[in-house]
Amino acid sequence: MISVDKALEQILGVINPLRLEKVNILEALNRVLGEDITSDRDIPPLPNSAMDGYVLRFDDTLGATRERPVVLTVIDDIQAGRVSTKTIGPGQAIRIMTGAPIPAGADAVTRVEDTEKDGDRVRVYVPAKKGLDIRLAGEDVKKGELIIPKGKIIRPAEVGMFAALNRPDVAVYRRPKVAVLSTGDELVDIGGELAPGMITNSNSYSLAAQVAECGAIPLRLGIARDTREDLISKFEAAKGADLIVTSGGVSVGDYDLVKDVMGELGAMRFWKVAMRPGRPLAFGTIGGVPVFGLPGNPVSVMVSFEQFVRPAILRMSGFTNLFRPAVKAVLKEGLQKKAGFRYFLRAVVELKGGKYYAVMTGEQGSGILKSMVMANGLIVLPEDVTSLIAGDEVTVQLIDRSFETA
Ligand code: AMP
Ligand code: MG
Repeated sequence: MISVDKALEQILGVINPLRLEKVNILEALNRVLGEDITSDRDIPPLPNSAMDGYVLRFDDTLGATRERPVVLTVIDDIQAGRVSTKTIGPGQAIRIMTGAPIPAGADAVTRVEDTEKDGDRVRVYVPAKKGLDIRLAGEDVKKGELIIPKGKIIRPAEVGMFAALNRPDVAVYRRPKVAVLSTGDELVDIGGELAPGMITNSNSYSLAAQVAECGAIPLRLGIARDTREDLISKFEAAKGADLIVTSGGVSVGDYDLVKDVMGELGAMRFWKVAMRPGRPLAFGTIGGVPVFGLPGNPVSVMVSFEQFVRPAILRMSGFTNLFRPAVKAVLKEGLQKKAGFRYFLRAVVELKGGKYYAVMTGEQGSGILKSMVMANGLIVLPEDVTSLIAGDEVTVQLIDRSFETA
C-alpha cells in the first residue's frame, strides 16, 4: 500500500502532455494553447476615430465656445470601413464615424455632441483636445508583439484575439481519448432488465461525465464480465485510447481479476493506496497507455477519479494547474478516523461572512452515491489525524462550480 502523495507522484511520473493539433479557434475554447501567438500586424492598422463626430485641426478650434463657435467647412463624410482621400486644410473638417481612419491633415476629433451641423458647415462649440478620441495604430496590438504565450488556457478573450489577428485556427494540445470500462457480473446497462442480484451500471456514466468535465473525450466500452477472456477482449477494444479507466474488480474478491489482467497485458505500478474511500486502486500501463483500475463502489470510483485520473487527464491536455481549488473551512461537527489513511469526506461547503464552513453530507459509505450528489466539496483529512472536533479547521477541495457566484 502506498500513500496518496506517492501514488500521485508515480502516476504523474508517466504522464506527459499529448501532441499538438490545429483546431478551429472556437474549438480551442477551454483548451491549452500549443504555440506562441505573435502578431503579424498592428491593431488597429490605422489611426482611427474613437467617437462619432468631426475630425479637424486642433488649432482651428482654439477658443471655441457655445456663444462664439468656430465654423468649419465639411469636405467629406467617412463611415467606418472607408478611407477618405481628402486632406484636411485650415478651416476644414470631415464628418467621421467611430472606427473610421483619420484622414491626412487632421490631428483631433470633436464629438458630435459638441457640434451642430449647418448645411455643409459645422459649428464647433468647444476646443478640441489633441489626440483625445483618436485611437493610434497598434495601440491594441503591435506588429511583432508576443500576445498570448504557449501554455495559456484559451478563454473567450483569447478566441476573440485569434480572430482579431485573422487566425482561423491555432495549435492546442490534443484532448485525451479516455476509455471507460465497467467490470462486474452483476451489472446491467440503463434500460436493461434488473434480475434479482443485478444492479445498474452507474459507474460508466459518472466516469464518462467526469472525463467529459475535464475536457477529454470519453469512450464508453460498456461492461466486462468477471472473466479473464472478457477483460482481455475489452482491454483490446481500448486500443487507440490515451488512457484507460476501469471500475470494479480490483479488490480481494474471488472474481476481482482486473489487476491480474492488467499485470498480464502490461506492467502494474502499484495496487492499494492509503486512502478512504478508494483503497484498492490499481495503476499500471498497457502498451505504454496508463491504466487506472478504480474500485467499483460508486463513491470510490468518483473520489479516486478526482484525486488521480483528473490530474493525469489535465496534464495530458497541456494544463499545468492540475488540482481543484482547496480552501480552509471550519468543521461544523466532530469526527473520528483511522490513522494511516487519508480520508476524503463528502461535504457541503458554505461561505458565510468570508469564512468557509463544511458539514458532511451524512452517511459516508462508499456505496452511497447520493453523498456525491449532495456534496460540493471533499474534506481532506491527513493520514496522521484521528479525531477532530467542531470548530477545527480542515482543508476542503471544491469539486464543482457552486462558488463561482458566491
Ligand atoms: P467490486 O470492486 O467489483 O467488488 O465492486 C464493489 C462494489 O461496487 C460492488 O457492490 C459492486 O456491485 C459495485 N459496482 C461495481 N461496479 C459498478 C458499476 N459499474 N456501477 C455501480 N456499482 C458498481
Ligand atoms: Mg466486481
